[in-house]
Amino acid sequence: ANHNLFSALRAAFPSNLDDVAIEAVSSSGEPLNYTWRDLDRASARIANMLDSLKLPEGSRVAVQVEKSVEAVLLYLATLRAGYVFLPLNTAYQSAEIEYFIGNAEPAVVVCTPNNFGWVSKIAFKAGTEHVFTLGEDRNGTLLERATHFGDEHQEAERKSDDLAAILYTSGTTGRSKGAMLTHGNLLSNAVMLKDYWGWKPGDVLIHALPIFHVHGLFVAIHGALINGSKMIWMSKFDPKAVIAAMPRATVFMGVPTLYVRMLAEPALTRQQAGHMRLFIAGSAPLLIETFKEWQDRTGFTILERYGMSETIMLTSNPYSADARHGGQDERRGGTVGFPLPGVGLRVVDDAGKALPMGEIGNIQVKGPNVFKGYWRMPEKTREEFSADGWFKTGDVGKVDERDYVCIVGRSKDLIISGGYNVYPAEIEGYINDMPGVAESALVGVPHPDFGEVGVAVVIPKPGVQVDGDAIIAQLKSQLANFKIPKRCFVTPELPRNTMGKVQKNLLRDQYKGLFA
Ligand code: ATP
Ligand code: MG
Repeated sequence: ANHNLFSALRAAFPSNLDDVAIEAVSSSGEPLNYTWRDLDRASARIANMLDSLKLPEGSRVAVQVEKSVEAVLLYLATLRAGYVFLPLNTAYQSAEIEYFIGNAEPAVVVCTPNNFGWVSKIAFKAGTEHVFTLGEDRNGTLLERATHFGDEHQEAERKSDDLAAILYTSGTTGRSKGAMLTHGNLLSNAVMLKDYWGWKPGDVLIHALPIFHVHGLFVAIHGALINGSKMIWMSKFDPKAVIAAMPRATVFMGVPTLYVRMLAEPALTRQQAGHMRLFIAGSAPLLIETFKEWQDRTGFTILERYGMSETIMLTSNPYSADARHGGQDERRGGTVGFPLPGVGLRVVDDAGKALPMGEIGNIQVKGPNVFKGYWRMPEKTREEFSADGWFKTGDVGKVDERDYVCIVGRSKDLIISGGYNVYPAEIEGYINDMPGVAESALVGVPHPDFGEVGVAVVIPKPGVQVDGDAIIAQLKSQLANFKIPKRCFVTPELPRNTMGKVQKNLLRDQYKGLFA
């Protein structure tokens, strides 16, 4: 059988191809609907065009364009033609693009019409033969070229183990690595999530995430397509627009900052959210406070899940009773839920020995969703797998007595102060609970006596004054001395990347000279 992911997605299209698949808005504000037939035909044309280029097997198609439905069509076309899709963050500038294109050596590069000059120069230098443009309004050379091709296409035969995409990690902890994902990785995760999250006929997804990461590209788009569900498509996140669309939708996926921004809108009410079925959060930790506020305001309990570029989705809070875990159906704030069906998860110490329940250690995983390795980094790939084949996530956490997984931070963010492990999430939790605090981040900086000490960065709630020394004084009454940050700074915001992840490396750099 053909294991091309596109075949499975195509087979899930509803029988009436004239139904609307994607409801978008043009950049001038006109409604723009795409039927399922449109998705099928337009992606076929692009796939035929890619075929005509006679690219070598396994060729990468690198894409740095603004979010648009046509970018999704290009993704589907790349799958159909059997090539490897490689999306790039739209924020990347020339130095970054030079690294990624030089590293990935794509056969085809697609960029925005505005960037054609400098991107094509970099691409040709790296040996790319074909550079096309794709604009936000169905303009550019990619679609111009594709119109000359037929609108039927027989998808390429692919094995489950063949590459479908390379996703560069977010670069939160260092230089981004290209995670090689196969047709089988993507399909198994999509099929499992459809069931675990209770997707049903009539579901409508609000899509407001960027599409160059796992969250927006795979979890959201595959989720809707494999269920034959309509998407309400937003090229940028606008809290008011998402809230306004809720009465016509049932599912929303967002990173935590999107929930925070919606909570700041008075239009977010129980009534306005009443038609929705499910709110999902992930990519970064969801604050308990956001979780609770969302419950109070909308009556819905956000379902938090955990995943990464290398593995797609790993754990999830339950949508409904999970028989594997005593029929528990509670979505617990501050946890990322249970390992998903088919996913193995264990917590080990630094020597790789399994730890008893409740103890904090390194999270390792296994399953059909785990990637093939880092693109052109065989050494790094070898290092990140244990001798018995488990992938080392780099995240630190525990499994509690009710089987819920809790993440306490990344191993790179752990602070070892005077020989003791300090887990940032624990201290951040105490600080976040203090009056007037919106959120906080704890990072380790070099210290002559202790090796490392914690420095806290605190963001106050709007219009509230908080005092760093008072925060330290209060922590002293709550926690052991080695956990107390040596300094506490109050600033208006935390540095975040486009996925809303706090960039602790930037904070560490900023404060590294404090005690030196
Ligand atoms: P890099 O690997 O380049 O440093 P990154 O790890 O941020 O960047 P991604 O693959 O996009 O790149 O993100 C995966 C990471 O995001 C996970 O390893 C985990 O640390 C974090 N993460 C995802 N979901 C959650 C969640 N629900 N709670 C806490 N952390 C999460
Ligand atoms: Mg990572």
